[in-house]
Amino acid sequence: MMVRIVVVYPDLLGTYGDRGNALVLAAAVRRAGHEAEVVDASSDRPLPHDGAFYLLGGGEDGPQVLAARLLARDGTLRAVVEEGRPVLAVCAGLQLLGRSFAAEGAEHEGLGLLPVRSASGERRAVGEVLTSPVISVGAYLTGFENHRGVTTLEGDAVPLGRVLVGVGNGVGGVDGVVAGSVVGTYLHGPVLARNPYLAAWLLERAHVPRVEPSTAWRELADARIRAALQSRASG
Ligand code: GLN
Repeated sequence: MMVRIVVVYPDLLGTYGDRGNALVLAAAVRRAGHEAEVVDASSDRPLPHDGAFYLLGGGEDGPQVLAARLLARDGTLRAVVEEGRPVLAVCAGLQLLGRSFAAEGAEHEGLGLLPVRSASGERRAVGEVLTSPVISVGAYLTGFENHRGVTTLEGDAVPLGRVLVGVGNGVGGVDGVVAGSVVGTYLHGPVLARNPYLAAWLLERAHVPRVEPSTAWRELADARIRAALQSRASG
């Protein structure tokens, strides 16, 4: 089986190294005994239909507005979400999958695939984040954030985690959102490199057999978590 991992518009949503999430998934897929291909789907072409995973990264305001407009016109991502294929959206990706977001001093329509709305905060949130996840992906999630957006969940929408260190969505003490097989978060890292069990959760959604994360990988994640817990205790 060939598993395609689609990186959505890396030419627009390519800041903060979130493409690394694709490399992490590709490595995990290969460990599970399948072939994996990372597809960099640039914004001047139709989005491929045959991805097992779709990944959206962070971006600056201008490119984020353009990406939202192009993805709405393209329509593939909506179909992918409706079919229940796993999507990971980080920061600008999270905001533009929501119902609306603020950028460049104006409000913009999002794709409406996540039950959130994002506004512009008073100041940028920059630094380490530690959360306690709401879904079953281990005891903690770690990453770093760098954004101005403040994201409000609608109604009974489920956050990805409760914030222990850092800011996250900036409303209600939570980070991100989970809706079906779509996960949105403010965590960079790349977030899957830092959080093996979040990668495992996405793999399960794509029906790739679960392989336990390597010891070295888990130890790396644990070291980040310990450091964040220490900074919390001392600060
Ligand atoms: N432009 C968005 C914000 O500042 C997203 C930034 C990002 O993706 N890191 O909130």
